[in-house]
Amino acid sequence: MKDALDWEDIIAKLEAWRAGTEETPSVSLVAERYSKDAWAVLLSTILSLRTKDKVTLASSKALLDRAPTPDSFLELSSEEAESLAFPAGFYRVKVANLQKIARILIEKYEGKVPAGMDELLALPGVGRKTANLVLIEAFDMDGICVDTHVHRICNRAGWLKSKHPDETEAILRDILPRQFWKRLNGILVSYGQQVCRPVGPRCQNCVIAGHCRRVL
Ligand code: SF4
Repeated sequence: MKDALDWEDIIAKLEAWRAGTEETPSVSLVAERYSKDAWAVLLSTILSLRTKDKVTLASSKALLDRAPTPDSFLELSSEEAESLAFPAGFYRVKVANLQKIARILIEKYEGKVPAGMDELLALPGVGRKTANLVLIEAFDMDGICVDTHVHRICNRAGWLKSKHPDETEAILRDILPRQFWKRLNGILVSYGQQVCRPVGPRCQNCVIAGHCRRVL
């Protein structure tokens, strides 16, 4: 990259592109539907791992309409919870983790989801991506949620060099102006699905090609 990254221009171009797609990530839709309730956001974020947006949304609604709190979640039998979570990927493992999480929340946090990175990371099945998304969507805190799309695009475009999403997040915390932290994931996920795809990126249609080392 010849010059310093112009994040303002990158984000503005991506947001203008996204405004034309009318796509909202499933976890954001769940946050909206359940008034940013932290249990709803956490449950939906866990269901979203390796699962398509439409399925995440349907499974989240099915579970949350029956079990809107950790207490009510534990009242469901495993079979019942699994059938509501189906066909989310790895739904049995996710339900088992959610049961463990619900117990911890009741025992340690009076049934509430804690608003801290360390406390969230200590919960079963919760990694940095999930914890960041919960802090952003439920608590309106600053965070950078790095999933496979954010990790791939940042490396492919030459904005940074890293081997793992957690490393990408650490570098972005240094180089990305704070006002863009929360917004990056929402726009790069859609962009990674439709334009800068894992295989066959559509570079001819790319609105940020001018900021991409791959085509400079
Ligand atoms: S130019 Fe191609 S590789 Fe670079 S960000 Fe755009 S789609 Fe991705």
